[in-house]
Amino acid sequence: MKASIRLIGRWMPEGTYYKAFKAEAEVVEGNASDLLRDLTIYRYALQKVVDALWDFDGLPKKSQLHQLFYQMLREHGFRAHVARNIYSYALALVKAAKNSNGDKPSVRKLSARLDYQDARVELDKGVVKVVLRNKQYALRLKHRREYIERFRNLKWKEVHVKYENKKLFVSIVFEVKYNPYVPRGLTAVDVNLRTVTTFDGSEARRYRTRFVEALSKRARAEEIQKRYSKRWRYNDRILNRVRALHRKARNIINDFCWKLAKEVVVKAYRRGHAVVLEDLEHLRNSINGKSSGVRWKLTLFAYRRLQHAVMSKAIEYNVPVIVVDPRNTSSTCPRCGTKLNYIHRLAICRKCGFKRDRDFVGAINIYLRGMWGSAGSSPNGGGMKDETRQTTPNRDEPMTTYIKTYTNI
Ligand SMILES: [Zn+2]
Repeated sequence: MKASIRLIGRWMPEGTYYKAFKAEAEVVEGNASDLLRDLTIYRYALQKVVDALWDFDGLPKKSQLHQLFYQMLREHGFRAHVARNIYSYALALVKAAKNSNGDKPSVRKLSARLDYQDARVELDKGVVKVVLRNKQYALRLKHRREYIERFRNLKWKEVHVKYENKKLFVSIVFEVKYNPYVPRGLTAVDVNLRTVTTFDGSEARRYRTRFVEALSKRARAEEIQKRYSKRWRYNDRILNRVRALHRKARNIINDFCWKLAKEVVVKAYRRGHAVVLEDLEHLRNSINGKSSGVRWKLTLFAYRRLQHAVMSKAIEYNVPVIVVDPRNTSSTCPRCGTKLNYIHRLAICRKCGFKRDRDFVGAINIYLRGMWGSAGSSPNGGGMKDETRQTTPNRDEPMTTYIKTYTNI
């Protein structure tokens, strides 16, 4: 069974991932206003290079970049390697914008990207030391010590210093090696607006989400924006109210997602399971036609956050992750593959008599797809109609055998 699990499904690939740690910071060595000035000059220089590159016929080669900008950047007080970083970064920005037929990039944020030559990360002291132009600053991370501790054994790659909303922030990008183990079983995760259901082959578990609570906050913010459509942007009181509601909604979603992700992933880790998730890109494509609008966008945002949280936690614990096609997970009978009928949330199979709650059906179908790759459909089997796919499951063994063997439904 171990070996066969490895061969099917779309696995989150092993390798190096990046994980950012962001914290508010305060200057404890050096002068905060100097730092702000250095950031402003950094932004100015970056924009200047972007402007020049934008008007350039075609795009210059790396060697030409040096000739064009090195001297100017050095005159602005940047050290040699920082000058190189700035023009390479500017080139990347311009390339990306031109490739997507976008407008000329405008550098709005006051931020600088620094590598190991200009930054020293001392997590044991909760301090990051950076050099911008020619001055050194020590920045103390204002974050819970226990949280910072968790990053101590990781290798860092880049430090970003940012100034936004009158606050100073430091982000540290860490490298995380992801070496998933060979799973002994699977835990499937089905996400709905109100509940998240997990299924591990024998037991289903249900968690209440806080998505509706978050969505209602967003809905209220949008209501206010609509009611004061002409002036909400310019009226501080209304603007603050709108922002606060959006922030609360975001916090609720983030909070819930990280807590749940931890719970699910740690449980899977203890049992040596892989986690099976629905492919959200697919979900979006299949739903776009039917429902649109704000509500759906927000729901997708919440799902994404949850998936992102689960994947990040999985990387942390080396838990394998399988992503499966989400189409028809709640409309196909997991026992015989027939299309299910619904009475409210109760799914009934007319053919084999299977009867279960909707969330459970979703979770078990995701579980089965995790087990058999894309059960009942092939990832690129575009020619088949949905009905055909449901009634003629395309797999090596009949699903009924499988269910008898591994699950108790
Ligand atoms: Zn059935």
